Amino acid sequence: DVSHKAPRETLGPRMVRGALYTYVRPEQTDEPELLGVSSKAMQDLGLKPGEEQTSQFKALVAGNEIGWSEEKGGIYPWAQCYGGWQFGSWAGQLGDGRAISLFETTNLQTCTRYELQLKGAGRTPYSRFADGKAVLRSSIREYIVSEALNALGVPTTRALSLTLLPNTKVLRERIEPGAIVARFAESWLRIGTFDLLRVRGDRELIRKLATYAAEDVFGGWETLPAIVSVREEQSSAEMDHPQRDIPGDDVQEHQGVEENRFARLYREVARRNAKTVAAWQAYGFMNGVLNTDNTSIFGLSLDYGPFAFMDNFDPQYTPNHDDQLLRYCYRNQPSIIWWNLVRLGESLGELIGAGNRVDDEGFVKDGVSEECETEFIKRAENIIERTGEEFRAVFLNEYKRLMGQRLGLKTEKESDFQSLFSEMLDTLEALELDFNHFFRRLSGLSLSELDTDQKRIEAASIFFHAEGFGGIGYTEASARDRIAKWLDSWRTRVLEDWGSSSDKERQAAMKAVNPNFVPRGWILDEVIERVERKGDREILGRVMHMSLNPFNEEWGLHKEEEERFCGDVPKYKRALLCSCSS
Ligand code: AMP
Ligand code: MG
Ligand code: MG
Repeated sequence: DVSHKAPRETLGPRMVRGALYTYVRPEQTDEPELLGVSSKAMQDLGLKPGEEQTSQFKALVAGNEIGWSEEKGGIYPWAQCYGGWQFGSWAGQLGDGRAISLFETTNLQTCTRYELQLKGAGRTPYSRFADGKAVLRSSIREYIVSEALNALGVPTTRALSLTLLPNTKVLRERIEPGAIVARFAESWLRIGTFDLLRVRGDRELIRKLATYAAEDVFGGWETLPAIVSVREEQSSAEMDHPQRDIPGDDVQEHQGVEENRFARLYREVARRNAKTVAAWQAYGFMNGVLNTDNTSIFGLSLDYGPFAFMDNFDPQYTPNHDDQLLRYCYRNQPSIIWWNLVRLGESLGELIGAGNRVDDEGFVKDGVSEECETEFIKRAENIIERTGEEFRAVFLNEYKRLMGQRLGLKTEKESDFQSLFSEMLDTLEALELDFNHFFRRLSGLSLSELDTDQKRIEAASIFFHAEGFGGIGYTEASARDRIAKWLDSWRTRVLEDWGSSSDKERQAAMKAVNPNFVPRGWILDEVIERVERKGDREILGRVMHMSLNPFNEEWGLHKEEEERFCGDVPKYKRALLCSCSS
């Protein structure tokens, strides 16, 4: 493909057949300014502090050097092709419309391989009618929040750097400056990558892509999960999937259904996504636009568009301004991820349905006759259904583990779900209290401050906003009462796990999992405003530093600002909405 040699104006939508990417090089940029790098990203990529100051680094992350040359060769940059179900409808061929991958790089210490790409680096054959650019505002959001989620332990694509393109004018609702985020991930494959092949009817390429995913993205067939019954999953406190000694391409029989390695690949994708969405629920993160093209095969949080962290707890909240039907609201995220995974099961249908009739290469032996087609469909449906049960079990296990941890518990009890988790969430919703502040403030309470009714009623107000609490039908006394009641059951439960002598230890354990700082919408807005309009460069570094160290009590950079950013969310800046035009 020689698209890079074609004049850019001619790069309209191009329907691709038989391939999943196109070689294309980033646009040259004029006077790029490196605004920031993530020190954690540098470390994870195996780069040394200070290397970001070299002209080579700056040119690379600005799209002006690609690490390939006519003489020396190397890897030529590429853009991926994918499709997607958007808001429940088939959207056709999409693809990296403004992201261009430069190369893969392996951190030899951690043996992790990443694909580095530039977002906002110009048009590609998949830009359709858009400009291939990203505005500074959305780039700041992605740069900070992908690193913040990673610091919270949530699987995600990462951000290495943010580069301002001062001479690039991007037209959205107004003219805005452009920017490039250099980002990286173990894989940029999406469910939408498989969707597209299914719609093309390209069975051969689905087989190749699934094989590539298993062998190159995951660590080989033998690392994929072996059979584990849902019952086993539900009772297992240990979350890592059980490793069994099974050959990579063994077909196993499970509850009367033959499960081949493609079925195990499917289950691995489902299990990873179950854990990731559990982490979103536990930390109050909303992706905002969970189309299949934004759902990662590797189980990463992906596509930093209209996302948000929860302010006041509201299960109906979606940060996506265009999501009128609340399809992607907080409460719907787990079932939407499963909806997307069913699409993946359909794309893999023939492969997982073939049971023991796939050969060593993954080809279906003796072709697919009409009789066996019915048998394949039945088996595939069966596997999808069972994977659904497994998804649910893995999700619940991970959610309970994280919530238990956030509430300072060391053991799991059947009754915790109802009496602690649900009652807490109902209380937050009813009184319109802040989700993440609740956990952090709870962490700082000592049990001796909660050992009488009177003390609990007094303590309850630390969860209030500056202006008090919200909700309908509550008086100050009944609001305090409700919280105090919950605090009572929480205290009893914590005593069960910790006894009364190790309260300091319990508080420290809670503070290590409950962030003091999360980059909420209003904070990102302030950062954007100050970087864009006031030319402030320092604030970006400070907020990145806080995002990389979210559990700190303080950061020692700017006391007033830190306290403000960790404090109450200003009343009219809660639950902000975000439009997709970025
Ligand atoms: P999203 O809603 O961010 O998941 O984007 C959906 C599709 O639109 C993806 O294929 C993007 O690459 C593409 N896209 C979004 N914004 C642009 C843009 N400014 N230029 C080119 N393609 C874009
Ligand atoms: Mg996307
Ligand atoms: Mg996007």
